[in-house]
Amino acid sequence: MILTKGLIISAQNYANKTALVDGDETFTYGHFADRVSRLKQALVRRGIAKGDRVALLLLNDFRYLELFYAVTAIGAIAVPLNTRLSVSEIIDLLKDSEPKALFFHREFTDWIHQIARQVLSLQTFVLTEKQKEDLPGYIGFYEEWIRGEESQPLSYDDLSPDDVAGLYYTGGTTGRSKGVMLTHANLVSNAYHAAIMLQYHPETCYLHAAPMFHVADGASTYAVTMVGGTHHHIRTFQPQTLLKWVAEKKPNTMLLVPTMINMLVNEPAFGDYDVSSIRKILYGASPMPVEVLKKAKAKLPHVEFVQGYGMTEASPLVTMLLGKDHVTGGTKEEERRLLSCGQAIVGVEVKIIDAQGRETEPGEVGEIIVRGPNVMKGYWKQPEETARVLRNGWYYTGDLAYRDAENYIYVVDRKKDMIITGGENVYSVEVEQVLYTHPGILEAAVIAVPDPVWGEAVKAVVVKKSGSSLDEQKLIDYCRGRLAHFKVPKSVDFVAQLPKNGAGKILKRQLREPYWKDQVKQVN
Ligand code: ATP
Ligand code: MG
Repeated sequence: MILTKGLIISAQNYANKTALVDGDETFTYGHFADRVSRLKQALVRRGIAKGDRVALLLLNDFRYLELFYAVTAIGAIAVPLNTRLSVSEIIDLLKDSEPKALFFHREFTDWIHQIARQVLSLQTFVLTEKQKEDLPGYIGFYEEWIRGEESQPLSYDDLSPDDVAGLYYTGGTTGRSKGVMLTHANLVSNAYHAAIMLQYHPETCYLHAAPMFHVADGASTYAVTMVGGTHHHIRTFQPQTLLKWVAEKKPNTMLLVPTMINMLVNEPAFGDYDVSSIRKILYGASPMPVEVLKKAKAKLPHVEFVQGYGMTEASPLVTMLLGKDHVTGGTKEEERRLLSCGQAIVGVEVKIIDAQGRETEPGEVGEIIVRGPNVMKGYWKQPEETARVLRNGWYYTGDLAYRDAENYIYVVDRKKDMIITGGENVYSVEVEQVLYTHPGILEAAVIAVPDPVWGEAVKAVVVKKSGSSLDEQKLIDYCRGRLAHFKVPKSVDFVAQLPKNGAGKILKRQLREPYWKDQVKQVN
């Protein structure tokens, strides 16, 4: 249960097989393990020791993987940082995690001066493809470091499965990001779970298209390495960049968040590219509008879609809706399944409990709690918050859901996003599902706003498709025919775009903020 072991075994079994593809560069598993071993020595030479944090401010890159494995083989802790944050948010995370070193892509060079001024005693190292002596943090770098060390078998001396390997920050969707301590055992367990459920094998060719700093991509990252599959990388997601890479390099597997799938299916140039190599698309991290899923299935009929539900605190996988459950145009029951995030995966226990802690009956909404070897050690420097969410070995997710008679789970909302209007609970996700069926809507979010009569009222915030003549009244009328009266939005804001975090999740707290200035939203 040590991450490094997975790489060592793959290097023994698949020494000459391609492990990493990035731009025109490729490396075999033999190279991959050798480079990680040298990088590990180079890091130790520069003072990185067990327990130290090493922050990574990186776009998707094979070096992300090499650094992650090198850092964790020392027993040091990798801290992947969300590259979409502002510099002041990055500084906050650096002050919180207190890393000894920070590796960054040259795209973030402008930030480094500011970071260096505020986070003293931090060594910063820039990753560049070319010689760039004028960049701060330039150290002749990466390839020279690797060349400068001796080839030695990769080792992981004195490591215990309970040692923290990654300090991953949560999405910050509901509040301030929390540092989640994930141990070697957590990440390896999750990789086993992912490999079993997704049937990964040496021919799995996985494209890192979603940000690698997010643990959702990490799940597949460590699983693909363990089975001797191939990692492909695109720096950042753009529909056309992804389509071009797929057409040329032919990866067969990838993880995309719903926002990315929505962008892909709405990409006018979609039909110009050969996407026949794709076999499997894993999606998740936020609720998937069924309409978007149906469109994606229609555009990619040869692809198996698999949904994952999980969270940083669970490394992240908790449930999966498998390919066989993605039936469109089938019976009502089959179609209903598309609203589910699936069943508990191998190795993970899931319960849904009511406010008294009793397990709910099928159809009854309660909070999802999770237990398994993948559940975090705790939050970094937040013992009180840890004690609040980790109780008797169970992690309390803050997500509301019900299950059906076959234990399929249906996430209805986050506790913090649920709207209570006139004493009735409205799950924002249910209203959003209806909004997405309207042909004039590109994106939608439903939030609670204060209301003098009802306590809270339902508001829709909508991005229209270009050319759409949709207005507030038309949309409210559309919802009236499809939702119970109290769930229909009382008002609609039309906006040019919705605020999102690095994982593409809509930041509802930001949408709510202007309406809740003087008041605090109640959370049960
Ligand atoms: P923060 O905890 O800082 O508010 P976050 O919860 O968005 O941020 P993550 O750990 O990245 O941070 O996200 C986990 C959450 O994402 C889950 O608790 C759940 O609310 C949501 N989520 C993940 N997968 C799914 C899914 N398949 N369907 C619906 N919601 C999902
Ligand atoms: Mg969370």
